[in-house]
Amino acid sequence: MSVSKTALKDLGEFKLIDLLTQDSKLVRKSSIYGVGDDAAVIDTGAHYTLLTTDMLVEGLHFDLTYCPLKHVGYKAIVASIADITAMNGVAEQITVAIAISSRFTLEALQELYHGIYTACERYQVDLVGGDTTSSTAGLVISVTAVGKVSKDKLCLRKGAKPYDLVCVTGDLGAAYVGLQVLNREKRLFEVDPNMQPKLAPYKYLIERQLKPEARTDIVELFDKIGVLPTSMMDISDGLASELLHLSKASKVGFTIYENKLPIHQQTHETTETLHLSSTLCALHGGEDYELLFTVPQADLPKIESNSNIHLIGYVTELSEGLKLVTTNNEAITITAQGWEPL
Ligand code: ADP
Ligand code: MG
Repeated sequence: MSVSKTALKDLGEFKLIDLLTQDSKLVRKSSIYGVGDDAAVIDTGAHYTLLTTDMLVEGLHFDLTYCPLKHVGYKAIVASIADITAMNGVAEQITVAIAISSRFTLEALQELYHGIYTACERYQVDLVGGDTTSSTAGLVISVTAVGKVSKDKLCLRKGAKPYDLVCVTGDLGAAYVGLQVLNREKRLFEVDPNMQPKLAPYKYLIERQLKPEARTDIVELFDKIGVLPTSMMDISDGLASELLHLSKASKVGFTIYENKLPIHQQTHETTETLHLSSTLCALHGGEDYELLFTVPQADLPKIESNSNIHLIGYVTELSEGLKLVTTNNEAITITAQGWEPL
């Protein structure tokens, strides 16, 4: 009898998660929402509690040759807080688990924790526990964040309706282009260790890569201006991939416009130097941690004058699929790119 074996590289991350979690049944009345959103939703009485875990692996998510440990710590916390923010909630506590090899010193790990505490202070979250173990290879850091949201303010990935407006915060693609700059300088350094990395012209991009922020300000803004998105998620894997998630969860299509994609001037200039397309970087570059959300058209007056929010398109019927209208007025179908091998 032959036992079938499926190679993970043939599946892709999302298919793998689907297959691993398809039989999961929620038996607790308090488990309102499980796998499938940025955070799990748990009924704890007056509020919903939000719970999310993220893991960063050395060599895959960060490279210690150019990413100082304090930035790794800061970014790990921000990535988890961004998932709570994406539910329209506020993060309150975190736990941190680390796996370390013997090449790390106490001082190095104190630097990691310096970054963790800096993020905790910036976002007013408390580090309340974790776990420490050894690793045979590099550093692994896993952060769990707990937060809360009023029951009437919860935003899920499902809920977008045809004709809703599609919005993103901040600008897109900069973190990815920042990573390309750092990788290029690293390669030059490997060839000539005497070279001085030229990073000054790319300050914004590198900061977006090394020190991203979670858009907690936007959640506060929604509360202030009385906007409740019909769907929302954070952009950690790239806009195209996140639109596909919203599409699947909300059972809708999207039409977005190339000339509406918010792209920073430095991203434009640098993509030209690196012979990259700034549109493709905005669509597929990850780690911006901005918010992608939909609102009813009636909310347009409340958001249109806000410089942090950009209207990029509208929601369509599912049958219309995911379309990008290019600057030449051609409609092309967007597909997700990339699968990081396990
Ligand atoms: P995000 O990019 O917002 O952190 P992911 O793409 O990592 O989200 O995960 C998508 C969903 O799948 C989330 O609801 C997450 O909790 C769930 N998930 C991911 N990996 C696993 C796993 N190994 N077991 C159970 N659920 C998982
Ligand atoms: Mg997310």
